[in-house]
Amino acid sequence: MRCRHCSTELTNTFIDLGSSPPSNSYVSKEALKDVEQCYPLRVMVCDHCWLVQTEDFVKVDEMFASDYAYYSSYSTSWLDHAKNYVEKVSSKFYLNSNSMVVEIAANDGYLLQYVKDKNIPLKRYNEISEIIEYNKMDCVILMEILEYLRHKYL
Ligand SMILES: [Zn+2]
Repeated sequence: MRCRHCSTELTNTFIDLGSSPPSNSYVSKEALKDVEQCYPLRVMVCDHCWLVQTEDFVKVDEMFASDYAYYSSYSTSWLDHAKNYVEKVSSKFYLNSNSMVVEIAANDGYLLQYVKDKNIPLKRYNEISEIIEYNKMDCVILMEILEYLRHKYL
């Protein structure tokens, strides 16, 4: 497997959690007698750019099937947290209509709704591959953000 960010061959395991069925997947009554499908749950770290990432064994359409159970906006306490978080970071970083917020793995947009309420421009992606495939400029912005975080915290 190659790094999603820099394409370096991944050789370092960050954590190996054994195997697990896909999260939030239901088992039908008819399938209860069958062995549940499990997949390796291993997280790798790139020794070049330090991006931590899962190995993918389940296809996206299998993971997020029509009966997928979890959406972040179902939790009112989580929504309260998200709203408070946006208030704090927008104040701390002076975010306004000249700023740009980019969220990756945006789930159902539970967080960005509060960014939008503040009239802060935003981009929403569910996967890094969407950025790379559709918009090279956003990919450059993302890489700059990752580089900034790497210098600040590593
Ligand atoms: Zn990398």
